[in-house]
Amino acid sequence: MSDIEYDNLFKELETLEREYPEYKLPDSPTVKVGSTGAKKFAQIKHKVRLYSLDNTYSYDDLALWYERLKKNYSLDNDPKLVCELKIDGLAISLTYKDSEFSFGATRGDGITGENITNNLRTIKAIPQKLPEKLAELEVRGEVFMPKSSFDRLNQLQRENNGKLFANPRNAAAGSLRQLDAQITKSRDLSMFAYYGRLDSNEQNIDSHSKMLEFLSSQGFNVNPEYKVCNNIQEAINYCKYWDKKRQQLDYATDGVVIKIDSFILQNELGFTSRAPRWATAFKFPPEEMSTIVEDIEINVGRSGAVTPVARLDPVYISGSTVQRATLHNFDEIKRLNINIGDRVLIKKAAEIIPKVICVTQHATDKKSSFVKPEYCPSCGTKLVEQEGEVNLYCPNHLGCPSQIKGRIEYWVSKDCMDIDGVGDSIVAQLVDRGMVTTPADLYRLTVDDFLKLDLIAEKSAQNLYDEISSSKNPTLARFINSLGIRHVGKETSELLARRFLSLENLKNASFEEIQKIDGIGDKIALSILDFFSNSFNNELLQNLKLYGVIPQEMQVNEGSDKFKGLTFVITGTLSDTRDVFADIIKQNGGKVSSSVSKKTSYVLAGDNPGSKLTKAESLGVKIINENEFNQLIGE
Ligand SMILES: [Zn+2]
Repeated sequence: MSDIEYDNLFKELETLEREYPEYKLPDSPTVKVGSTGAKKFAQIKHKVRLYSLDNTYSYDDLALWYERLKKNYSLDNDPKLVCELKIDGLAISLTYKDSEFSFGATRGDGITGENITNNLRTIKAIPQKLPEKLAELEVRGEVFMPKSSFDRLNQLQRENNGKLFANPRNAAAGSLRQLDAQITKSRDLSMFAYYGRLDSNEQNIDSHSKMLEFLSSQGFNVNPEYKVCNNIQEAINYCKYWDKKRQQLDYATDGVVIKIDSFILQNELGFTSRAPRWATAFKFPPEEMSTIVEDIEINVGRSGAVTPVARLDPVYISGSTVQRATLHNFDEIKRLNINIGDRVLIKKAAEIIPKVICVTQHATDKKSSFVKPEYCPSCGTKLVEQEGEVNLYCPNHLGCPSQIKGRIEYWVSKDCMDIDGVGDSIVAQLVDRGMVTTPADLYRLTVDDFLKLDLIAEKSAQNLYDEISSSKNPTLARFINSLGIRHVGKETSELLARRFLSLENLKNASFEEIQKIDGIGDKIALSILDFFSNSFNNELLQNLKLYGVIPQEMQVNEGSDKFKGLTFVITGTLSDTRDVFADIIKQNGGKVSSSVSKKTSYVLAGDNPGSKLTKAESLGVKIINENEFNQLIGE
């Protein structure tokens, strides 16, 4: 239900209750909100204890946990696992009697919690009534505040000179434990359900994954990202994936909960005094770490920009080992007053090079002794300054090995031509041996050429050749991005591809035509014109064409408002990535949402659609396959 629908119904109920007070129910939502209750919350003893989970921080420990279970309980086959994101919120328990929400409590110490029923009733993600007839159901979940709501709340607090919350978790906890439920209601809280317990199991639910589907069918918000895994390796891959992607979610997650799926097996494994044996939690590593600066090196980027980089005592942050962090520019070294041997704080944001935030402990009380270099460390050319910029540049664009390597590394990278296997060490060998000076040269190489490199076996030489060959027809957006035009990244490339449809059109575009595009300004337009007027770049484009590297032309699609007012949810495996379908929907004026609700107009379902389909069915949302989707656009 949308907020507007909810508010309208709420107002209608208030009017009806005023006119016909004899029909007003004692537990009506209109009386629940605002009831302040006692000074303190009453205690509630949980019927079934809420255990905490054992934590691990390493993938090796996860594998050990699984192997130990298999060995100790003589399991011959790999038991199935369910992986769920561990939401960083507040654990709660909800009890439904005769299909109605009866009471809810905080986790407390696991045995006794606080009765916060009135506050929980204000959260829309918590159903008041269940569609199915159930004598008793206990549901556990995590109440959280979306990151976007958290930002809004703190903005509001700032405007009203109120106290700022440190993080979404604190804000959720603070909002939930308000004595005045009206305040709770004003905070945008939500909940993900992750556990259900039925008193009599007439539904024959025999696994955790089936329970999640059941909860979803009863109107609970189940996190859509959960996954059933066949073995521990799949679970580890799930953890690795979300360690990288978690920043993109609108809610905070600090790890992954991994459970044995089968209830029979869960019962067999049982509990230790502290925690269930059949579940464990993998905690994501922290995103800021402190380490020692071992050296300050000079890096020459693909555009010739010369930047200082700190070489670090290796430290593990956000799923990978960091050995280098950028210091941005030479003024920054002065500002931080950084010396070799200093202890520094390193931060790694999603898909961005790690950076040094500050010095936490100076190794010496001397001023930073670092001096700006005069010559390029890669090619020896005298460095130049560019007007209005703090960076130094190596002007030897065509001959500087560092710049050549940088351009090739960028060309093969994931968001560009996405050529697997051509790693930094291979690029370094190809450039150092003079086999490659521009990206076009990659497409001239033979299997024999690769065999000349160090540590390359015949099979991988063939693989490298195949990978490079199969990248010859990229999408236009990918191709534009790969060119490395200054100020033109992934998103700008997509805008340009959509507007100009072919490389030829883009090359012939005028300053006005480019600059007019929404999201592209003068600076980018100038940089594009600059790029195509450069003879070196034109030679590169000609050579690429010569070797058969030709971007696909875009289909003419002017966009429409065919899907205006419609909301789609995409699930399962389709013939292309979900992003592609999301783009089509947006181009036609529609919206894409990540979870199914009554507001959803269509669920576009591919293979293995999972829980979203179940939820769509239970809510009566129309489900369409790819063919039907294509028909919708074609109409
Ligand atoms: Zn150089």
